[in-house]
Amino acid sequence: MKAEPGSGAAAEQQVRQSATADESEVLSWSEERWQSEWGFGLNLSFVEWRYRASYLAGLIDDEQAWCDSDEGVRELHESNLDSGEAARKLSAPVSAEAMKWVVVVAGLLEQERGVAFVSLPEIRVISLSDLRRLGCHAVELDEWGGGTHGDSSAHRAATLARFEALLGLRNDALTPQAESHLLFPLIGGWYDDGAVYVVGEEPLMAHHVTTVSHELVHFQQDQQSDVALIDFIYGHSSSESEQIRLWLVEGEASALEIEADHEVMEPYADLIDWSEPFADFPELAPNAFEALIVYDIDQLFAEYTSGKDFVTSVLGSGGWGAIDALFEDPPDTMEQVLHPDKLAARERALELPSVQDIHDAVATDEQWSEAEVDTLGEWWLRSLLTDSLGRSHSANVAEAAAGWGADRLLVWEGEQDSQLAIWQVAFDTAVDHAEGAAALREWLLAQSDGDMRAAVGLSASASAWRWDGRSWHVRLLDFGQSLWLIAADSAEDADAALLDLLSLAPATYW
Ligand SMILES: [Zn+2]
Repeated sequence: MKAEPGSGAAAEQQVRQSATADESEVLSWSEERWQSEWGFGLNLSFVEWRYRASYLAGLIDDEQAWCDSDEGVRELHESNLDSGEAARKLSAPVSAEAMKWVVVVAGLLEQERGVAFVSLPEIRVISLSDLRRLGCHAVELDEWGGGTHGDSSAHRAATLARFEALLGLRNDALTPQAESHLLFPLIGGWYDDGAVYVVGEEPLMAHHVTTVSHELVHFQQDQQSDVALIDFIYGHSSSESEQIRLWLVEGEASALEIEADHEVMEPYADLIDWSEPFADFPELAPNAFEALIVYDIDQLFAEYTSGKDFVTSVLGSGGWGAIDALFEDPPDTMEQVLHPDKLAARERALELPSVQDIHDAVATDEQWSEAEVDTLGEWWLRSLLTDSLGRSHSANVAEAAAGWGADRLLVWEGEQDSQLAIWQVAFDTAVDHAEGAAALREWLLAQSDGDMRAAVGLSASASAWRWDGRSWHVRLLDFGQSLWLIAADSAEDADAALLDLLSLAPATYW
């Protein structure tokens, strides 16, 4: 299942985005929240805010308690159905009346895209409370947030979550699985296994037209190639390659989706409920939105918003033929997605030292597992910097991130659940490297709430900064034409890894 944020969620998001236009606004807004929730106001830095995400853990606990108390959820657990089968059981096909306007919507899409629907998928509707039950069941089965897309995708999500926790970007107590409790109520619809699901009740509303049109695009994408859409997106080796394909897939669907008005929906406008939606939106959804930070928003919604910008820009220069070509042969890096000239030139990532070399340098000790390996890409770097430095710095942040040449994340697990993560990023030129180093130092300073310290006693060719947080230990190493973020849950492991990296033969990229 590919969850889509609902139009209600999108509205919430807009509220959030306008609230995040300025970093100080975000902070004062969150202070207000804490004031009312906890009875005290704090000048919260982002990291404090994240640390206090125990509030989030409380929301998740409440949701779990609801799941545990609900009879319908218990029946689902006892049914042995996977989440796809459960979705089918909890939903019903829309009425023949609603199908009349679905046909109109499909016709509009055909016109716009120039591709005919050979057939239409089944359109099924699921109520908000049954969606909530489905969420409980999917969390129980661990079949959400990558779970249904195969183990490798879920594995990568977990690897990245561990790294983010070690950077203080995420509450360590929240697994991606637990977080899906927060995300479920934000879903407006999805496409899965030949059927489109919309969340709501009949008669369907104007915002459902948008959802249906968006999901019909996914149905068409699924029909267009021999590869199933789900495998096209998730059957790859890194978070970056998933993100590239998500931007393409969601960008196209967002570019084509239809904003309903009476004229567009003629002659069936009277079959649609035009009243104000989301009066009964679950309490959890706005709460979950309030808990999101800029970083989360970039990670959760960029495929729809920035993905749409990407698709629209390619469309403007090359038409639908250029989009078709990208589906055939997707961009190699997020760098290419973000910079049209680099896409045109198909500029490849720089070649980093082998995983084995790094493993041999830092994890020879038998306490460490085999490394989980991932690539995060330029957008991730930009999101990271934006989160700390704020939207007001966005031009500088984008520029600093634009020098990205390659990156790689390695995460090891050790005895007693200890973790060690090393993220290496190399930049295109010496100037880019210097900009990247300055931006990451500023990031560390902001994340650490001013508690960053320069590490002493290193060689002349290396410099490093350290931040020892409450439950995480981060080192930023500038060495060998690369920047390295080292994160561990003990200061000893972080320091040992830093010294080990200095034994690597420095690679040259420029
Ligand atoms: Zn979508």
